[in-house]
Amino acid sequence: MLITNGTLVTMGQANELVPHGALYIQDERIADLGPSVELAARYPDAERLDAGGRLVMPGIVCAHTHFYGAFARGMALPGEPPSNFAEILEKLWWRLDRALWPEDVYVSTLVCLVDALRHGTTTLIDHHASQNHILGSLDRIAQAVDEAGLRACLCYEVTDRDGRKAAMEGIAENSRFIRQAQNRQREGDQRIAATFGLHASMTLSDETLQVCVDAAESLGVGFHLHVAEGKADVRETLRLSGLRVVEHLEQAGILGPSTLAAHCVHVDRIETEILLDTGTMVVHNPRSNMNNAVGTADVPWMLKIGIPVGLGNDGFSNNMFTEMSTAYLVQKQAQGDPRTLPADQVVRMAWDHNARIARTFFPGLGPRFGELAKGAPADIILVDYDPPTPLTASNLPWHILFGLDGTGVDTTIVAGRVVLRHGQLLTLDEGAIMARARELAGKLWQRI
Ligand SMILES: [Zn+2]
Repeated sequence: MLITNGTLVTMGQANELVPHGALYIQDERIADLGPSVELAARYPDAERLDAGGRLVMPGIVCAHTHFYGAFARGMALPGEPPSNFAEILEKLWWRLDRALWPEDVYVSTLVCLVDALRHGTTTLIDHHASQNHILGSLDRIAQAVDEAGLRACLCYEVTDRDGRKAAMEGIAENSRFIRQAQNRQREGDQRIAATFGLHASMTLSDETLQVCVDAAESLGVGFHLHVAEGKADVRETLRLSGLRVVEHLEQAGILGPSTLAAHCVHVDRIETEILLDTGTMVVHNPRSNMNNAVGTADVPWMLKIGIPVGLGNDGFSNNMFTEMSTAYLVQKQAQGDPRTLPADQVVRMAWDHNARIARTFFPGLGPRFGELAKGAPADIILVDYDPPTPLTASNLPWHILFGLDGTGVDTTIVAGRVVLRHGQLLTLDEGAIMARARELAGKLWQRI
């Protein structure tokens, strides 16, 4: 397929802007790119997709999300509203995840994937919990991901909060699904990946952590977990182990270059050094952090010492442009300095750093994943944008932060396959999914 007549935004090391550009896709990868006139002459017989002057960009990665949370929208909580993060977990999320049935997991995932495709989010790193239906739950998610036609890395969050049986089932589900995903990747399918999920230090005993470390080691994977998201995690970990969260996780053998640590809001300087030294990946989720009033992660510091912090949505909408905007604004407010976290750093987090995180879980995608380059996987979005001021490669991040939004995504392509064409979903029936979701969510609310 030949995409013509677009402004190519390559991202990656080159980060070039190619006006009147074209891209040639072959076998799920970008085979050629350059000026439209040249490529049209080189590939006269290729099927055409006219970009209509839109921006042509690499698809976006969301580095931390929860597909299981879709049915929480508009749900009323009985009793007093939660007054802190620990109460939000107990009164909302843990009640919701215990009430999920297998079909809820599947449809809740589809709701999130419709949103992802519409907003140009093509790869998602999910963290799942459905504590009364653990075994097989990751298959329900994978089925939805396969139907949508995008990429996702899945895991089950192991926790001791519901007793030993549930914890052991969580471990079994991770192990089973990791083997399955590894087999798929070995056979050349780079659409599903898996890692070992853990809830958080505060809900895991040392005994359970040790079982998880042994299992993950034998499978050759790292972990995906919440780290020092709220003060409760710090308090509980200090009480149980006498250590701060990152210190405790390091001692337990959880950290390393294949481990993804979500949040890291309440980490001190020593802990950030441990994250850096162990090569642990960190993902920032500013909308969620603001919503839960847990504080603001010191992202500028972590970036400064060399941690390639990525960006996730923690279950908020899959419009990652909104997450970028929030990341950009909250740091200025938090630090009281408008120079904090400039737009180029935010854009680097969303594209370069997130692609790097995704490549850890999908090594088969290769080193060019996340950019428009020859040999890169063809994960591409076309975005409406008619700039009111000159647009250059160097001022592009400020155009992205102040002018672009996910609602301008016109077309989404994953692994060379068009999944959204000019606003029309080609793989999912949005009306049917939303109708079924309303039915299931209504029943789930009654169970809760
Ligand atoms: Zn989360």
